[in-house]
Amino acid sequence: MATNRTFTMIKPDAFADGNSGAILKMIEEAGFKIKAMKTVRLTAEQAGKFYAVHKERPFYNDLCRYMSSGPIIAAILEKENAVADFRKLIGATNPANAEPGTIRKLFAKSIEANAIHGSDSDENAEIESRFFFSKLEEI
Ligand code: UDP
Ligand code: MG
Repeated sequence: MATNRTFTMIKPDAFADGNSGAILKMIEEAGFKIKAMKTVRLTAEQAGKFYAVHKERPFYNDLCRYMSSGPIIAAILEKENAVADFRKLIGATNPANAEPGTIRKLFAKSIEANAIHGSDSDENAEIESRFFFSKLEEI
């Protein structure tokens, strides 16, 4: 996948609270183009696969339960310097440490229910995009 793309999920807390529209507006206003998007509900097993890198972490089981607790929006975004710029837009994992004006500062409830996901590298952006979208070559 091109280096100008990243992958995001609007997480169950933000989706359930009706914050998806406001979050997508912030994303578009920051210059990201939505290349693909869908609403899905993960099983705990699928959430476990997505976050397999965190398998040994103490928060893993709770995270899988939380990420399968309700629908999410998964999307592929395009912009120059997408991965780094998007991480900046969403803010720190723990909303207590997130910069003012970031999506997590505005919408996250806790370090777990932190409203949104953003890939941390070009490589992971591609892996995560393929997890949700099968025909990546056509997107
Ligand atoms: N998480 C958690 N407790 C922690 C750290 C992370 O519940 O102490 C959750 C949180 O939802 C986070 C996700 O696990 O977004 C993945 O963690 P990571 O360290 O990759 O943070 P991110 O890349 O999402 O900022
Ligand atoms: Mg991460």
